[in-house]
Amino acid sequence: MAFKTKFIFVTGGVLSSLGKGLASAAIGALLESRGLTVTIVKLDPYINVDPGTMNPFQHGEVFVTDDGSETDLDLGHYERFTNAKLGSNNNFTTGKIYHSVIIKERRGDYLGGTVQVIPHITDEIKKSIMLNAGEVDIAIVEIGGTVGDIESLPFLEAIRQFRADQGKENVLYIHLTLVPYIATAGEVKTKPTQHSVKELRSIGIQPDILLCRTEKLLSKDIKSKIALFCNVDVDAVITAKDVKCIYEVPIIFHKEGLDDKIIESLNIWTRAPRLEIWEDLVKKLEEPECSVNIAIVGKYTDLTESYKSLNEALYHGGIPNNCKVNLAFIDSDKIGESNCKKILGSSDGILVPGGFGSRGVEGKILAAKFARENKIPFFGICLGMQIAVAEYARNVAGMLNANSTEFDKQTEYPVIYLMKEWYDFKAGTMQKRDIYSEKGGTMRLGAYPCVIEEDTFAYQAYQTKEISERHRHRYEFNVEYKEKLEESGLVLSGISPNGELVEIIEIKDHPWFLGCQFHPEFKSRPLNPHPLFREFIRASLKNAGA
Ligand code: GLN
Repeated sequence: MAFKTKFIFVTGGVLSSLGKGLASAAIGALLESRGLTVTIVKLDPYINVDPGTMNPFQHGEVFVTDDGSETDLDLGHYERFTNAKLGSNNNFTTGKIYHSVIIKERRGDYLGGTVQVIPHITDEIKKSIMLNAGEVDIAIVEIGGTVGDIESLPFLEAIRQFRADQGKENVLYIHLTLVPYIATAGEVKTKPTQHSVKELRSIGIQPDILLCRTEKLLSKDIKSKIALFCNVDVDAVITAKDVKCIYEVPIIFHKEGLDDKIIESLNIWTRAPRLEIWEDLVKKLEEPECSVNIAIVGKYTDLTESYKSLNEALYHGGIPNNCKVNLAFIDSDKIGESNCKKILGSSDGILVPGGFGSRGVEGKILAAKFARENKIPFFGICLGMQIAVAEYARNVAGMLNANSTEFDKQTEYPVIYLMKEWYDFKAGTMQKRDIYSEKGGTMRLGAYPCVIEEDTFAYQAYQTKEISERHRHRYEFNVEYKEKLEESGLVLSGISPNGELVEIIEIKDHPWFLGCQFHPEFKSRPLNPHPLFREFIRASLKNAGA
């Protein structure tokens, strides 16, 4: 089927956290199930050029794409629900848009004209959206923030113009809103939705479809009332009911007729949806045969959103093992020699995730030691691998106080260090780091190849010698200590093709102990769980039964 790319814009009203990202991802899954190809774009109204510099405990995880872009965590949802290949053109912030306009202004591209929000910023937004046109049938574009915010106005103005530019049949507006149930009145209330749509219409956008977030299915009467007050078709009022399992959302949307309404409005013909894979997945997740307890030893405040992809990847790892994965979030700051056993003793598996900064590092090292000595399956990711190497160096290879230079610049044994020079495969150039480049721009980011040694946990999981995984870190395994650590029994099971970078380490004579310099969680999918998570959960499950 060849036609030009059509656009679906998803806005949100009433309040934040209604699940716009998930809704956009689920729409993508639903359209793919009808045989359409999709991409998904996130427009974020904040001034940061990208979320790379934002604190994950405020903003949630930084999701990394293959091309090394540091993006909003919603792109993680998009990749987990669809086959879309995402990269730098799938996430634009106000900062990124202004940055390009200001570069053009300095270059003199505007030929002396006055540079303004309309048309220059709005044109730049439209151009950025259009970068996603051409390759796919449908581009779904989610606008961050809530309608009524000052920040999102230029984005809303740009998407308003979009319909006039592209034609009515090529652009669809979906608005996600809240229909709260008020217990004292014993009924659901439509007023917040009416106000939110009024706000949207005041800036010239009439939504075509309303996704109403609510606890219970909306009655025909309520739908008719919303349709009347908001000027939409009754069958365009869709109940977005709360669900226990996020992978149920495409199924719920379909039952409410969302995909039919979308293709009717955009005037597209497709095959009927095939949702069996999602139905089977939900069934598996809802009826596990057993369960396993995993301790995640990290730096926690209360925002588990900061490890979103990791949590999902762990749940995915349970699927092929028919088991439910229970996660216990443990603040590494609280772990000391004396209470380690008390805190971690009942865990079937221990995972130390990525992280930056020295707080809680010694607690993480103790957790790795505890897992190694007590033969509890251990999975170290990025920083988690680095602290496992330091622990092994200290306690097995006899290198007193070995450390990463991120935490101890004077250590006698800098087993993890900042390479002064390294070859960036993607850029095809040598990269240099110095004291000035500590905080920005010098991270190893995005997909890098890795060669796996046979006869290792890594090979057992991947079943192939060549893999590619995504990175986001500055420090590396110091190859100066390679021989000494190998002699003491550390297995280097994954190495960069040029032999310079150590990507995976493991320990023999242990049920499963593996650390990787990359972030495998970014590539795990519910329909295709990541092999390392699958094997970690398998080993933890075995430990639980032992
Ligand atoms: N802080 C470490 C580094 O920069 C690890 C980073 C991470 O875990 N993502 O190398």
